[in-house]
Amino acid sequence: MRTILTSLIFFSAWCSFGQSNAQESSKLILALPFKEGKTRIVTQGYFGKYSHQGEHALDFRLRKGEAVFAAREGIVYDLKEDEDRNFWKGIKSYRANFVILKHDDGTFSKYMHMQKEGVLVNVGDTIAKGELIAEAGSTGNSTMSHLHLVCYKINDKGEKITFPTFFETKKGVIELKAWHIYRKPKEVKKN
Ligand SMILES: [Zn+2]
Repeated sequence: MRTILTSLIFFSAWCSFGQSNAQESSKLILALPFKEGKTRIVTQGYFGKYSHQGEHALDFRLRKGEAVFAAREGIVYDLKEDEDRNFWKGIKSYRANFVILKHDDGTFSKYMHMQKEGVLVNVGDTIAKGELIAEAGSTGNSTMSHLHLVCYKINDKGEKITFPTFFETKKGVIELKAWHIYRKPKEVKKN
């Protein structure tokens, strides 16, 4: 009896160890999408009231023309870079320029608001984590130059389901929040 009990305790301990390990390995860690060593502010976070309703999206304040780097490796799935105009909430509907990367787990990440001709990659290109992909801007629903980044998957009904991610910062691996400033480490881990 005692042996069985001991085995059970060991077995349940082993199971919970396995679970926490699985969670840890499934945690998606992205690189900040701006230049290494730089510090930038997040001006709107997940479910932000201005324009992120129901969306795990992040806005990084980047200057017009500033380099945008891939947060994660992937293949260029779609892009748009012919728009030069922006609008304030609800007034007009110019569409923002964008780049969408598709990842090997079937999910996507979308980078938005780049300046006209500000997409530096082509559909089908293989992109490494930390690679230069675009130049920031303020096209579409935007009042000042910034980068909107959102990660999502498409479910069986064809709906876009966004999800939260973690970023590698100078202070460690964390979830980003609005009105916080983050420094990108000098060297991006390619994992
Ligand atoms: Zn946004």
